[in-house]
Amino acid sequence: MRYVDWVQRMTDRHFALESQLRTRSFACAAPIGTLLLIATWFGIFAGLTEGVGLLIFQRINWPQWGRLMHVSKEILWISPLVDLSFFLIVTFLVWFLSRFSQRIPAIRVLAFLLTFLTIYDWLTLTNRLYHRACILLALGVAVAFTRWMTKRETSSICFWKRSTLWLAVVFLLTWVAIQGEKWAHERIAVAKLPAAPQSSPNVLVIVIDTLRADHLSSYGYGRTTSPEIDRLASQGVLFENAIAPCSWSLPAHASLLTGRAPSQHGMQNVQPMPWLGWGQNSLGGYSTLGEVLRQRGYRTGAFSANRVYFTSNVGLGRGFIHFEDYFDSVGDSFVRTLYGREFARLYLNRTEKSKVTRALRYLGLESWLDKDSEGSGDFGGAYGVRKRASVVNQELLQWIDRDQRHPFFAFLNYLDVHYSYGGPQGYPKPDWDRGTTIDEYDAGLKYVDDYIGRLLGELEQRRLARNTIVVITSDHGESLGAHGLTYHGAALYRELIQIPLVLSYPQQIPQGLRVAAPVSNTAIAATIMDLLGAGDQGAFPGPPLSALWKSPKLQTKWPDPISELAQTDIIVAADRVVEGKIPIATNGWMRSMVTPRWHLITHEKLGNQLYDWANDRNESRNLIDSAEGHATALRLAAQFEAGTKAQ
Ligand SMILES: [Zn+2]
Repeated sequence: MRYVDWVQRMTDRHFALESQLRTRSFACAAPIGTLLLIATWFGIFAGLTEGVGLLIFQRINWPQWGRLMHVSKEILWISPLVDLSFFLIVTFLVWFLSRFSQRIPAIRVLAFLLTFLTIYDWLTLTNRLYHRACILLALGVAVAFTRWMTKRETSSICFWKRSTLWLAVVFLLTWVAIQGEKWAHERIAVAKLPAAPQSSPNVLVIVIDTLRADHLSSYGYGRTTSPEIDRLASQGVLFENAIAPCSWSLPAHASLLTGRAPSQHGMQNVQPMPWLGWGQNSLGGYSTLGEVLRQRGYRTGAFSANRVYFTSNVGLGRGFIHFEDYFDSVGDSFVRTLYGREFARLYLNRTEKSKVTRALRYLGLESWLDKDSEGSGDFGGAYGVRKRASVVNQELLQWIDRDQRHPFFAFLNYLDVHYSYGGPQGYPKPDWDRGTTIDEYDAGLKYVDDYIGRLLGELEQRRLARNTIVVITSDHGESLGAHGLTYHGAALYRELIQIPLVLSYPQQIPQGLRVAAPVSNTAIAATIMDLLGAGDQGAFPGPPLSALWKSPKLQTKWPDPISELAQTDIIVAADRVVEGKIPIATNGWMRSMVTPRWHLITHEKLGNQLYDWANDRNESRNLIDSAEGHATALRLAAQFEAGTKAQ
């Protein structure tokens, strides 16, 4: 060996030894300040990247929209906050243990754990890898990084010291930019509103998601499920045969907002998520009720508990100055982050007797145990946290109280009737509730009805009720076992499309009127414009429902309402079991037309069904094979085609 090489080798050894000694001294001392610094760096860095990743992969994974937990840009500051809190807890544990045993190299252990948690976080958010694979990969990276860092511990700590402040600044700027932009956008939009015509009424549209009409007492149900809605109906107009434009949420909400059929606005299934917002091209470019009312000086707001299919993210935000869907509470924000989802998967699915469940109740966090249908519950156990009518009301009232200068247009979605049924735990159950599916469905309705009563009371207290148009309806019904189906979105039978429709406008529309003619609730948009005296019918196709009480003769000439269901893959397994037994939309589109006497249902590949709407309320006898049925179906189908073409 050459002398020069020998010197080089000795020098290297000397530095390695010195580095080891230094490392040990760090390991033994492990000041809490240094550990907290490392935790802060990892927490913010992991969280910021997670937020960006969740937004990107939500867009990439949009074909699985119904299975995802959803996020919008607020996740960019919520994720770092959650990761930082979690990593600080881990850090305190490591520090605590290192106080007992000087042998634990606290910095190295912490770097290993936080690297593992960071890499696991990033791999899991893709929604494309098995958990075990994520764990193994993250372990591998953590081992490699810790080895690498151990050799450069001093310089690593210097790096963390230098860069943590900058990361903290980026985090704060992100928070200020996102929240500030929302605040400023709303203020500017409201400031720019034109003056509304004198004494313009407020407009409140309430959609009770998944509510079939025949379960309301005012629609002939035996149980007193809906006293508040009934009271409102007695002061206004009730449509006995109101028909939804589709049998699931997304197309139906798009129709309610645009006044158009699903085949017209085109939102018949979830559409690819654009990188930069939906713009003017979504919804076939048609105006929304929000946009038109905004042009008339209305402050517009949407408050949604259906965080899968009625959100700004999915393309339904156009026209709303204010849209509240996600992040309504700490629990909701938490379960949308990656570690929140992991927590939900591991701890929010426990039994009532489990220590975790009892601890959450003890801490006053029972609302976290109220599961939503959003999330991948069917596919791995992570559910969202349900948003109840109580929260929707709170959001709405706070928003109303913020400004008295402009009339408001508020569009509400309550999800409490939707599966899982029964209303919130702990809420008083009605007498009839013995726990069957139907009992629970009705209990959910009674809960919503109570909260509609409370909301109307609040409006009364604010002296707003007299000058507010209230519309109560639903986006579709629910099968509850009829025709072998359980939920909705698979077919167009009566129980799936006949929904409540009640309109109230004190002193302005008839009191206690019941209209028997079948009508579509997509006419709500045109009706509101007519009640405002807007003379702006061009925006929404008529005729407005108000024409029915202005000239009752029209009842016999009213256009027969049509429902449409495009071929779809959102149908859940419980409903797919009837495939091959009855026509469902798994393998073709469906359409339906309701006349005062008949209900024609057509399927793209599986032919027609005809039911006697007036006399066979359960649609138990398909009359298509009888001579009369066949002839009637042909006549209606021709009318159907003509009507569709005319639109
Ligand atoms: Zn729905």
